[in-house]
Amino acid sequence: MTKRYSVFAIAREAMRHHQGWERAWRSPAPKAKYDVVIVGAGGHGLATAYYLGKNFGITNVAILEKGWLGGGNTGRNTTIIRSNYLQDPSAAIYEKSRSLYETMSQDLNYNVMFSPRGVMMLAQTEHEVRGYRRTAHANALQGVETQFIGPERVKELCPIIHIEGPRYPVLGALWQPRGGTARHDAVAWGYARACSEMGMDIIQQCEVTAIHRSGADGAVSGVSTTKGEIACDKLSIVVAGHTGQVCGLAGFRMPIEAMPLQALVSEPIKPCMDVVVMANTVHGYMSQSDKGEMVIGGGTDGYNAFTQRGSFHHIEETVRALIETFPIISRLKMLRQWGGIVDMTGDRSPILSKTPVRNIFVNCGWGTGGFKAIPGSGWAMAELVAKGEPGALAAPFSMDRFREGRFIDESVAAGVAH
Ligand SMILES: Cc1cc2nc3c(=O)[nH]c(=O)nc-3n(C[C@H](O)[C@H](O)[C@H](O)COP(=O)(O)OP(=O)(O)OC[C@H]3O[C@@H](n4cnc5c(N)ncnc54)[C@H](O)[C@@H]3O)c2cc1C
Repeated sequence: MTKRYSVFAIAREAMRHHQGWERAWRSPAPKAKYDVVIVGAGGHGLATAYYLGKNFGITNVAILEKGWLGGGNTGRNTTIIRSNYLQDPSAAIYEKSRSLYETMSQDLNYNVMFSPRGVMMLAQTEHEVRGYRRTAHANALQGVETQFIGPERVKELCPIIHIEGPRYPVLGALWQPRGGTARHDAVAWGYARACSEMGMDIIQQCEVTAIHRSGADGAVSGVSTTKGEIACDKLSIVVAGHTGQVCGLAGFRMPIEAMPLQALVSEPIKPCMDVVVMANTVHGYMSQSDKGEMVIGGGTDGYNAFTQRGSFHHIEETVRALIETFPIISRLKMLRQWGGIVDMTGDRSPILSKTPVRNIFVNCGWGTGGFKAIPGSGWAMAELVAKGEPGALAAPFSMDRFREGRFIDESVAAGVAH
């Protein structure tokens, strides 16, 4: 039984020089067989495992990770959480997710530092004004709390914004007061600790190298990994930018492109901005971390690649764009930059789906915006894996939609250029 984290635990450990903290999760050797194997210990894989246990009592589960848990996009993103999407299925799953973030720290007994400080998406052209007004109306019907605010309110909420920008003045913004940020590593670590506590096995440094099928219908029977053979009844593939390769091992293709997405942070400065701002016309977004660094991101790189690195052109393009709206950053030193490999679908919406292989399920396509979706996606995916059929949240996101022409177009609401 894992000891609970609490103020009393901190006091107790302070008295004994912090010698009594336990490891947050076990690192067991893989068993020969599991009911469910999840490939990928990012936020979505871990959340899927957690809700399989919590909502369906399925705990004979292994989560296999080729690197370290949370080391993919989950540990590389800029942590923006919002649910102001346009289409009904998106608003439903992202709002479910945002609402789960509200109580995640208590639910997991792990401080994920959810900070609902408010997110604004600036309208800097008439086209954007119309688009965001439309989204605000759609959100009102969907029960998602957002509003379209004018430039004076924007300035009030974020005084460092230059409203009369030289090229693109700020004409208003789509404002979601309960959007915000959370600590990305903590989300992965919190889920991992809770999964381990339920008896699930998280196996790091364990790459899936082959997928096996058997029986007359060719259903999944197990995987080969760098730590040996593991049999399973069900397999859930949750590997973001590597979806194409892993699904390829099972013999089917996915409508996914892998592209680098980069971010950077500045040197820490005094608190100057307590909301998240996205400026999509110029392609940049920014928030201030608890340490004082300005956390900055922009659009995806313009080509397919698997490099998890930053590049100079990105700093130049993104910072140049943001300086127009935030002149204050013009003399900031940038501290570090990095990249992740995001998984893009044609309609910029995710895939939570059965696949052509019986008992293989896939969760991918969250692209540039899946951190915010981790709990909602895990919730919906767990239902799909447990029951073999999608529930109301996941059903619209099956991959049949590409064959049927039933797109869930979120190319604008996705918020960054791609
Ligand atoms: C720079 C950047 C900024 C972003 N900003 C935001 C943001 O502000 N807000 C937001 O909502 N989203 C954001 N995102 C997107 C978000 O990070 C992702 O959508 C989300 O983290 C995806 O989580 P995941 O669990 O699906 O994937 P990942 O966290 O990438 O996890 C997949 C895991 O699968 C593992 N894996 C791959 N192949 C194998 C294999 N063969 N065997 C075993 N394991 C394997 C990988 O090692 C990886 O750990 C951003 C992304 C990036 C890169």
